[in-house]
Amino acid sequence: MIATASQACACNVADHSGRLIVLTGGPGVGKTAVLEVLRKALCRHVAVLAEAASILFRGGFPREESEAARQAVQPTIFYAQRQLEELALSEGHHAVVLCDRGTVDGVAYWAGDEASLFTQMATTRDQELARYAAVIHLRSPSAERGYDHVNPARIETAEQARRIDDAIENAWRGHPNRASSTRVRIFSTRHGRPSNASAKSSYVLSGAPSSA
Ligand SMILES: [Zn+2]
Repeated sequence: MIATASQACACNVADHSGRLIVLTGGPGVGKTAVLEVLRKALCRHVAVLAEAASILFRGGFPREESEAARQAVQPTIFYAQRQLEELALSEGHHAVVLCDRGTVDGVAYWAGDEASLFTQMATTRDQELARYAAVIHLRSPSAERGYDHVNPARIETAEQARRIDDAIENAWRGHPNRASSTRVRIFSTRHGRPSNASAKSSYVLSGAPSSA
C-alpha cells in the first residue's frame, strides 16, 4: 500500500492530478528521516513513496560493488521506481507524490554512459526529467566542513559519499525546478502546545534554488 501523509485536509477535491516531487541525495544524508517527518506533517493528499532500491535490497536482490551487479540492479530499480510512481498517481487522490529518489538517480550508479541507461529503459533523459515537477537535493556535507578528520576511515566514507552526491547533482542537471541544500533542520513545533499538537512537526529546507 502507498503510504499517505496523515494530517486531515479541508479540501474536498476527489480526484487530483498528482505531481511528482523528488527528494534525492547521497548516502546517509537523511532523506528517509525527512520524508518520515513530512509524512506526519502533511495532509492525506500527499503520498510518500519508499525508496525503490531499499525495497529491492531488503527483498534480497544482490547488493554488490561489481560493475556487473550494478548494471543488473539499476534497470530493476528504475523500473520499480517508475511503477511505484505510476501506482501512486493512478490512485487519483494524491495531489503530490513525494519520491525517495527518482528514475534519473540511476545515472549516478550506472557504470556505462548515461544514454545507454535511458535507451535500455526505452526512454530519454528529457522524458525522465519531465516526469518530475520539482527536485530537492539534500547535499552531503563536504569533507572539509561536515566531517571530522580524526578517523581516516570516516574521511574516505565522506569522500565516497561526496562522489555519489556530485554524480547525483550531475544526473539532474538541467531540471528547471531544482533546489539543493547542505543544511536540513528538522524540529518539532510541539513547544508550549497542548497534546493534540504533539504529533505535528515541521521542517526547514534552507538553500536557494540552484541554477540548472
Ligand atoms: Zn489536502
